[in-house]
Amino acid sequence: MSLHRPCRRPLLLGVLYHYNKTLAAPMKRLPVYDALVIGAGISGSNIASRLQAAGMTCLLLEAGHWFNRHTYPRNERDSNASLFWGGGMELNTSTTMAILRPKVVGGGSIVNQALLDEFDGSAFDSWRAQSGIDFLRPEVFAPVYEQIRKDIPNEKLDHDFDNGNARIFHEGLTACGYETASLTRAQRGCRFEEGNDCIECLGGCRLDSKQSTPVAVLPKGFEHGLQLLADCEVTQIVPGRDVQRVYAQHPAYGALRFEAKRIVLASGAIGNSKLLLGSAGFSEKLPMLGQNFWTHPQYMMFGVYDKPVHAWKGPMQSWKTSDPRFRAKGFKLENVFAPPVAVSMLLPALGRELARDMRKLDSLASIEVAVRDVTPGRITRAANGGVTIYKELGEEEKRRVDAGKDIIRETFASTGAKRVIDGKFGIGLHLMGGLCLNQNASGGCIAPDFRLHDFPGIWCADSSSFPTAPGINPSLTIMALARLATTSILESA
Ligand SMILES: Cc1cc2nc3c(=O)[nH]c(=O)nc-3n(C[C@H](O)[C@H](O)[C@H](O)COP(=O)(O)OP(=O)(O)OC[C@H]3O[C@@H](n4cnc5c(N)ncnc54)[C@H](O)[C@@H]3O)c2cc1C
Repeated sequence: MSLHRPCRRPLLLGVLYHYNKTLAAPMKRLPVYDALVIGAGISGSNIASRLQAAGMTCLLLEAGHWFNRHTYPRNERDSNASLFWGGGMELNTSTTMAILRPKVVGGGSIVNQALLDEFDGSAFDSWRAQSGIDFLRPEVFAPVYEQIRKDIPNEKLDHDFDNGNARIFHEGLTACGYETASLTRAQRGCRFEEGNDCIECLGGCRLDSKQSTPVAVLPKGFEHGLQLLADCEVTQIVPGRDVQRVYAQHPAYGALRFEAKRIVLASGAIGNSKLLLGSAGFSEKLPMLGQNFWTHPQYMMFGVYDKPVHAWKGPMQSWKTSDPRFRAKGFKLENVFAPPVAVSMLLPALGRELARDMRKLDSLASIEVAVRDVTPGRITRAANGGVTIYKELGEEEKRRVDAGKDIIRETFASTGAKRVIDGKFGIGLHLMGGLCLNQNASGGCIAPDFRLHDFPGIWCADSSSFPTAPGINPSLTIMALARLATTSILESA
């Protein structure tokens, strides 16, 4: 990947460093913020920036580190260790699913594929049916999606730069009679003609062409005076009538206490559940806390070819499946590849046989099946203060995985694969639910106006608010929910 762009924001970084220092030193004199947002991922960055731009004083607290395009880790091992909770991955209780949970300023927008997809009628129908909330409809979200697409640069991938994996995916599926469509990604100017490879940006984009929230969203908040404290993990929330308190830990500043008129929870499906389960008084009033946890379980398969595939080259993913038969059956196929350490973990062979398969890395293609899960998982607080993640496939999900794998085998066979290898374990990276929007506290923790039931000073509109698994990439809808919640917060103020 070439790195020719000059740094555009040294001044801003300096100003924020100063904020961090001033935040740390005179703790006792900190103001009561209008809003304190916990988690600087997709939802938190959007809500904090928009509230600050609308005139509120906001503080954004993030447990992860704040990197920029010059400082992102340079190899896969360091990326895993520095950008994710659990040093790279967490596991479900049966150790059959690797859970990838971002921990970095920008959250998922730093490590994700930046694919932007709108929810369809089926996703909103299931949300309304489960939550009893009427505004969860395509016609309410359509203008919000449109506005986000105007505000955040996004492009359809140019198929002139398709690598061998993309060609296998598109040509194989088409030959087998299935529909594909081009993907839209939040990116600008990846300059593939210069040989840039998007697989690198899974560890943070060093061109700033991926439109992560530190690139596309946070600068607007900073212009208006938004304060951000990175490396600061919130450990407890104490709700109050007019003032909410938050306790946190920082490696340099130690134990911290903040006060705000309102708190916005934006630490993701697992983060929010963990935080509320570890704070007094929430479990009693929110019986569904930690329940209905979804992951869109994904299973990767590799096709071994006798010619180079170069699956990591250029835009890593440029096609998606758009076949209505797949949607009806509850799965989709994704044309992704993984960096070498991840591939070596996914390949089932060991020792010499694994080395033999890894030597074929150049000639491996990969397609994964991602299923719309219907068997809910559950998050509980572990005795050591961490989380325990209960997430298994039910019979229906197993059927969906098998149906998707059959199509992948067909696709590899039609394009001349010599061998097909099943990935060893499942992956969960669309982490959703745990709090869930619901008309009533008996069904979920978040009321239709995005406040927690019974806690009017605490708001939430991130991935933890999803009532069911939509079976569609979540981040565009997380941004839409964040905008709707911001409006609701401003109206209430
Ligand atoms: C590898 C990968 C690829 C993906 N690809 C896509 C894609 O192409 N398209 C798509 O739509 N979705 C994709 N996703 C999913 C998407 O990124 C997530 O759904 C999205 O980021 C969730 O947004 P969020 O705001 O709810 O949480 P996040 O973006 O995860 O942000 C939560 C933040 O809160 C912080 N936090 C947690 N606990 C605390 C605490 N106690 N104190 C302070 N901070 C805390 C975390 O460190 C984190 O930074 C992908 C995810 C991964 C991991």
